[in-house]
Amino acid sequence: MALDAAPLADGFGRRFHYLRLSVTEVCNFSCTYCLPNGWKKTGPLSFLTVEEIGRLVAGFSGLGLSKVRLTGGEPTVRKDFNTIIQTVAAAPGVAKVAMTTNGWNLARHTAEWRASGLSHINVSIDSIDPETFHRITGHDKLNQVLSGLDLALAEDFTAVKVNAVLLRETAEAGFDAWARFVRDRPLAVRFIELMKTGDNDDYFARHHVKAQGLRDWLERNGWTPAPRAFDAGPALEYRHPDHAGAIGLIAPYAPGFCDSCNRLRVTARGRLRLCLFGDGGVDLRDLLQDDDDREALTGRIVTSLGGKSAGHSLAVGRSGDLRNLAQLGG
Ligand code: SAM
Ligand code: SF4
Repeated sequence: MALDAAPLADGFGRRFHYLRLSVTEVCNFSCTYCLPNGWKKTGPLSFLTVEEIGRLVAGFSGLGLSKVRLTGGEPTVRKDFNTIIQTVAAAPGVAKVAMTTNGWNLARHTAEWRASGLSHINVSIDSIDPETFHRITGHDKLNQVLSGLDLALAEDFTAVKVNAVLLRETAEAGFDAWARFVRDRPLAVRFIELMKTGDNDDYFARHHVKAQGLRDWLERNGWTPAPRAFDAGPALEYRHPDHAGAIGLIAPYAPGFCDSCNRLRVTARGRLRLCLFGDGGVDLRDLLQDDDDREALTGRIVTSLGGKSAGHSLAVGRSGDLRNLAQLGG
């Protein structure tokens, strides 16, 4: 079998058909747990170009890639974001083109992005109370984000989801408002347990709460776990007969979280990152300058995968060299 026809797998039997690709480290929001002082330029801005992204995705697509998530920083601050979507969507075998966004310009571009091949959108909304949203993100833009979300729901995306980081204050405010939010909206709101990074030690100590409290609330209020697809990601989703949408949780500190890992990451500067909470990464950028380097590129990716560890070490307080999630793409 030719090297570039082999599916990507690691030494623990996990298959990797899903790439999370950061297209920028820049962000226009200043979420308290991620970039509390806003994004600051610390070096030259040399993020992957559209041509480099095209070669990267073509390389992975020869290795069985079927899904790409565009993330950042805030991916949609890139002026060529629509061309990036078109480039990724054109790669053979890539059936799902997803993005994670803070939603600031969703209302303006939803239809255009859909037409270019975007199929899945995750919008990050940590609170649906406007003041709390403002305090967490640094921007009084909840209504703008919600308008974009509702426009996206009206387009024929395969899935539109909401991500909310579970914080002590939002957990204490309770989940009734969220249940009302998904009563008529056919979308899943997934709460992600706050993760500790190099920059947020103190914040983590003050704001981290376990997902178990949400799980208890769901079970007390008539929500039941939805059946999981065999290739489902780490989210556990709950449904309720009176609600069109779902509520889910992603608990990276739970035992066994890494067993179903199916994703690889590439940073906005072209480094392959085998685990969000690992160290360093493997530079791929030198092999993205010429179409003729494709075989060398796939060879380097396959060889690097041998170094993927069984799981992260968050439970023992190690989060690798990750300073914040904007740096790598969450
Ligand atoms: N800017 C985009 C956004 O916010 O959706 C994409 C990048 S952001 C880093 C991706 C996701 O990571 C967001 O849903 C964000 O809330 C989440 N995130 C960032 N820092 C986090 C942390 N320390 N723990 C858990 N989730 C985090
Ligand atoms: Fe920006 Fe997303 Fe980080 Fe918020 S979570 S600061 S929107 S990168």
